[in-house]
Amino acid sequence: MAGLVIPGHPRPRPREVSLDEVRAVLGSCQQCVLGQTRTNVVFGTGNPQARVVFVGEGPGRNEDLQGEPFVGAAGKNLNGLLSIAGLTRDEVYVCNVIKCRPPGNRNPKPEEIAACAPYLREQIRSIWPDVIVCLGTFAAHFILRTEARISTLRGRVWQTGHFAVIPTFHPAAALYHAEWQPLLESDFALLGQWLAAHPAEGADGGIAGGSNGGAS
Ligand code: URA
Repeated sequence: MAGLVIPGHPRPRPREVSLDEVRAVLGSCQQCVLGQTRTNVVFGTGNPQARVVFVGEGPGRNEDLQGEPFVGAAGKNLNGLLSIAGLTRDEVYVCNVIKCRPPGNRNPKPEEIAACAPYLREQIRSIWPDVIVCLGTFAAHFILRTEARISTLRGRVWQTGHFAVIPTFHPAAALYHAEWQPLLESDFALLGQWLAAHPAEGADGGIAGGSNGGAS
């Protein structure tokens, strides 16, 4: 599949391209019809060196108006869930599969996901996190290249290439299905456990600390 053409980076390696460079290529994208109805492109926010990237589905109304992901009710739930994993919004990176709001919050169409995919791929290559948390079905299907149900994917850590992947329910879905909230919480607890068991490279006892730990 064709990647993004990023000026000055013919074959970008992990962490070679900055998020600002990816954002500049995205510009005021018109690669799909969503470009005609959005208010703002919602690129992503957070730490460009995050260990954990959260990928949601696509901007809702509040996100479209403010140009930032997860600022509405789902974002409030996400913020509470982050604390279960011992994380804050500032230290993680949050983005979506698609960067523009579908009218009426309908599901993204396959051609919209395909048009937006190169941007998400380059965001992930730029940050090169240890863990990708998939918030909901669309993110899980994209990252894990599967069509399996989120309810069967969640609850464990997957590995895809360099990345550990934790799929879970979408924080907005749990607002309507209260019975999913404890499962979401247990997936965020799993994330916290995974991070504690896999200290960052360069942290005490890691590679820079002189151990012989290997980087994948
Ligand atoms: N739902 C998402 O999937 N992403 C957002 O940014 C907000 C709500």
